[in-house]
Amino acid sequence: MSCHVGYVALIGRPNVGKSTLLNTLLNKERAIVTSTPGTTRDTIEEEIDIKGLPFTIIDTAGLRDPSSEIEREGIFRTNKQIKRADILLFLVNANEEITAKDIKISDRLPPEKTIILSNKIDLGKKLSTRQINHKLGKGWANILEISAKKGEGIKDLEEELTKLVWGGQVNKEEDMILLDAREKYQLEQARKHLDLGRENLINGHPVDLAEMDIRQARTELGKITGEDLTEEVIDRMFSDFCVGK
Ligand code: GDP
Ligand code: MG
Repeated sequence: MSCHVGYVALIGRPNVGKSTLLNTLLNKERAIVTSTPGTTRDTIEEEIDIKGLPFTIIDTAGLRDPSSEIEREGIFRTNKQIKRADILLFLVNANEEITAKDIKISDRLPPEKTIILSNKIDLGKKLSTRQINHKLGKGWANILEISAKKGEGIKDLEEELTKLVWGGQVNKEEDMILLDAREKYQLEQARKHLDLGRENLINGHPVDLAEMDIRQARTELGKITGEDLTEEVIDRMFSDFCVGK
């Protein structure tokens, strides 16, 4: 089972800072960052942990006019990513006007799953939220100002990403269970008790000891599910499996 809460695709014209943002989110140098437009022709996928949630971030090739075969392949892949992604991070340059290319890309993006990132805010601000909305001509609810290079606004971006998951906008995998820190702790406690119980049984200690461990594990699990699990469960377990008999 792939274990992630959603695909996040980085979208934007060449040189807008997609690979830089991926590196900043990853905290390591994986995607190649150069100042030559269009270096990232392929897509790069990285699993990344944001506030305890596993996301898959996809760095796409820039959407450009299909002037060459390799470029066309890049565009094809990007379009595929737009369809596949749960969240699109659309980067524009904060220190420049919105370009025709920006508009061409944004026309393909569904606003409900897009966060606009006004990047390179450290170089100065030419774009306001109003201008972005006006030029890109849709109701873009989510616009954040960031500097991928300096790490500014990244916390807000991470906050927004996790909010989309908890708010249910992101299609979580059907069989995926999301635990908060408290629940994770309780699950670990439950496991610890079960491990102890097993040890006790293996080492031939009195069954009562194992039973106590199992009861404790059950109590921890009950805290997560909110169920006050009845004694019946454990009684049945012991009679059905004839533990120690
Ligand atoms: P991509 O083509 O969209 O992947 O863009 P890159 O990540 O390769 O970045 C292109 C250039 O912009 C590089 O020289 C980056 O260092 C620079 N860059 C990216 N983000 C920022 C930023 O927030 N501030 C500044 N000053 N430069 C940035
Ligand atoms: Mg790149």
